[in-house]
Amino acid sequence: MATINIIGSGYSGLSAACFAAKKGNTVHVFEKNASIGGRSRYFKEQEFLFDMGPSWYWMPDVFENFFGQFGKSPSDYYTLVKTDPAFQVFFSGSSPLKVPNELEGIYQLFESIEPGSAQQLKKFMKEGGLKYAIAMDQLIYKPALSWSEYATFNVVKGVFKTHIFKSMSSYVRSFFKDERLIALMEFPVLFLGAMPQQIPALYSLMNYAAFQMGTWYPMGGMYKVVEGMADLAKSLGVEIHTHTEVQKILTAHHKVQELATTRGIYRADATIATGDYHHIEQHLLDEEHRNYKESYWNERTMAPTSLIFYLGTTKKIDKLVHHNLFFDADFKQHAADIYKEPRWPEDPLFYVCAPSKTDPAVAPEGHENLFVLIPLAAGINDTPELRELYFDKIMTRMEKTCGHSIRDSIVVKRSYCVSDFEKDYNAYKGNAYGLANTLMQTAVLKPSMQNKHLKNLFYAGQLTVPGPGVPPALISGQIAAEQTQKYLKKTNQSVINA
Ligand SMILES: Cc1cc2nc3c(=O)[nH]c(=O)nc-3n(C[C@H](O)[C@H](O)[C@H](O)COP(=O)(O)OP(=O)(O)OC[C@H]3O[C@@H](n4cnc5c(N)ncnc54)[C@H](O)[C@@H]3O)c2cc1C
Repeated sequence: MATINIIGSGYSGLSAACFAAKKGNTVHVFEKNASIGGRSRYFKEQEFLFDMGPSWYWMPDVFENFFGQFGKSPSDYYTLVKTDPAFQVFFSGSSPLKVPNELEGIYQLFESIEPGSAQQLKKFMKEGGLKYAIAMDQLIYKPALSWSEYATFNVVKGVFKTHIFKSMSSYVRSFFKDERLIALMEFPVLFLGAMPQQIPALYSLMNYAAFQMGTWYPMGGMYKVVEGMADLAKSLGVEIHTHTEVQKILTAHHKVQELATTRGIYRADATIATGDYHHIEQHLLDEEHRNYKESYWNERTMAPTSLIFYLGTTKKIDKLVHHNLFFDADFKQHAADIYKEPRWPEDPLFYVCAPSKTDPAVAPEGHENLFVLIPLAAGINDTPELRELYFDKIMTRMEKTCGHSIRDSIVVKRSYCVSDFEKDYNAYKGNAYGLANTLMQTAVLKPSMQNKHLKNLFYAGQLTVPGPGVPPALISGQIAAEQTQKYLKKTNQSVINA
């Protein structure tokens, strides 16, 4: 029986652990923090339960597919509900745009804003559906170790239909004219990726996934998904070691032999590293075993990081729904402040999640649980004074939009930014969502899943393929476990002949 060590207990680490254990291996997961879940941890304060990271549960099919491979379904672990509406967007000078959580309602909304746009959206959705199918069937589940993986007739034919060489910005503008509709279609890429001008229109598949499959919420919070995956992993025999930081990857004969951790040395036949790629390479490996030099990382385009406030209020904020986007500022200027000339934005766009609108378990009755997120350039200077300055800016805008005071009802307040990401997750430049999904950082052009010098070291997680986000992290763990299994089989260390 082979032993596989996994560094990190985020979604990709837990996913890799489940797949590796399913193949009959002994699996250990090492997590530096006291609790599992990585960027998707939670904390509780005064009866408020805060998800610390992800809050949008999109692409439910990927979660079904994940649990389905173990004969389970998400409903064995958590209860999903659709948020109602899906989300709302505040623009300056007009009433908020409430986006329904079913397609027919979305068509009607578009038509009410721009005559003819419902028909355009139908065309957009048709192309998006095609892209989604091509991406899922032929692109996303590949290890992306070589272009030859994509050199089949179907993939080559499919790739051109994905508009990979067109920008998201020009693609969206070829369908819609109203600035609010354009912002609505571009927001997923700004929050998770790069300037819409730099993102391939392939990523319109995210709009498709959001509108077609809906926006969901696991009752109890996103951490329920983490708990479900950990329960599954444990039922497969995985041992999870929290409070155990890997300090060095020990090698000999072109292989990883052991992990030196804060709680002792662990031997393994193969290792899957899911902590931030840059940290694993630059801090845990000797120079001659690294895939990339520091200069490579300096040249990467990072997705935005975030300034987050976790707030508990003693009153309800009536104008908010579960997901709220405050787009009452200049979208282009904020994007430029993240990607062109990184600096703290004068007037940022921001996102407010109020899960207490859907879930009574996350705040006391009559209270509100708020998660406020401002996207920022990765690596930006982060000081307590700057955080407070932005807290005031955001509160002033929220209070104006909601029509009443909020600050006077806050009983819980915590902030989280670049230095916390660095300290808690060893995150390169304090990144929140890894690398931007630009064309030059797609598929084979992403940091490789396989270490070139150490045959039994693999990488998973948001800095390698397929990219940032919870569904990609589940897929990344699966692909890394499959690659590891191939290696074990090749070296006759696999107990299962598959
Ligand atoms: C604020 C925020 C909001 C987000 N919102 C969404 C959303 O709404 N929807 C969505 O789909 N995605 C969202 N994302 C992205 C998504 O959360 C991430 O892409 C995903 O959780 C990454 O999982 P991972 O396994 O790659 O990495 P991580 O979650 O970072 O896991 C890596 C783990 O490795 C551990 N580790 C690092 N170094 C070591 C070491 N030396 N030894 C031991 N352990 C180590 C870390 O502590 C961490 O637990 C959001 C992310 C953030 C930060």
